[in-house]
Amino acid sequence: MDLLIGSNNRHKVEELRRIMDSSFPALMRLLIPAEVKNFPREIVESGSSLEENAYIKAAAIYEATGIACVADDTGLEVDALQGAPGVYSARFAGENCSYADNRSKLLADLQGIPADQRTARFRTVICFTDGWRTFFAEGSCPGRISEAERGQAGFAYDPIFISAGSKLTFAEISAEEKNAISHRGRALQNFATRIKEYLAS
Ligand code: IMP
Repeated sequence: MDLLIGSNNRHKVEELRRIMDSSFPALMRLLIPAEVKNFPREIVESGSSLEENAYIKAAAIYEATGIACVADDTGLEVDALQGAPGVYSARFAGENCSYADNRSKLLADLQGIPADQRTARFRTVICFTDGWRTFFAEGSCPGRISEAERGQAGFAYDPIFISAGSKLTFAEISAEEKNAISHRGRALQNFATRIKEYLAS
């Protein structure tokens, strides 16, 4: 069975492939967008929840390519900001903003908020569809927002996110350490369980 990873984001594709290669059955061939015809150029993520956006992406990609597909949507939910940036994490600082812009805005919005009130979580929702079945898997990673940026690894909010029980930001730990506890890692483990059941049924 072919399974198309429905993302053009290089960081995400690398992370998904690493996790999927180690946990997926050998009978599945993973494909990336560049390897298929008709991958949609742009999908408008118009949903108001992570679930809706993951479904919109997976359904549009399946419709265009005819290949079973997984798409995911992730948000960083900050308690002191009532769950923001959440579904708007990619464009928190405005359309076409950079990862650095988003981090700066988040640190500015949290200025003066003490450490114990900077709690947050990354949440990932994965949607699978093959035209017959559509199902979802979720994973989250609790933690808090640091006072300043630290570390060079990872991407986006990683330099300001400290997972629960750690002192280091996601940008100060290795990709392997992050995958083992990350929202996306957990969502993928849940997805792996679901897809194995589905393939066996
Ligand atoms: P997406 O749905 O995976 O594209 O994620 C939406 C936004 O959440 C991204 O543009 C990033 O700003 C942020 N994000 C997603 N995953 C991560 C992560 O693992 N670390 C840091 N930021 C992330």
